[in-house]
Amino acid sequence: MQNDKEEDFGNIKKLIKMVQHDYPQFRVIEGKKFAFRPPKTIIVGPFAPFCELTFLHELGHALCGHKCFRLDLERIKIENEAWDKAKALAAIYKVPIDEDYIQDELDSYREWLHKKSRCPNCGLTRYQTTDSLYHCPRCESFAG
Ligand SMILES: [Zn+2]
Ligand SMILES: [Zn+2]
Repeated sequence: MQNDKEEDFGNIKKLIKMVQHDYPQFRVIEGKKFAFRPPKTIIVGPFAPFCELTFLHELGHALCGHKCFRLDLERIKIENEAWDKAKALAAIYKVPIDEDYIQDELDSYREWLHKKSRCPNCGLTRYQTTDSLYHCPRCESFAG
């Protein structure tokens, strides 16, 4: 007998089974937080509202072959890419798409980037070089 709590997440369990069948190259394991760990592990959990979409988003990262990224701007780009892929997958697996949820997720990355790129000295938006360091156009020109 299944208890009620497990019953609620029947959809995500079914979806994971279908995905594992369709994409046997990826390994799906349960963990604390949804994530894609390159090259082939998708971590699932906790099972909460919109977890099907989140799962498809992580599958999106996997299918796009996302690995690591050096620049935070690249991070925003791959998050967008993974959501585009997730939307295509959602149509295939008949998972309802919630635009608000997706935009909220993307906003949290934009906000994170905005905070991270602010110069702690003068508040100006800094830029990041390929060595992943941030530079402030104002403060660094004075320092030089
Ligand atoms: Zn992501
Ligand atoms: Zn500055």
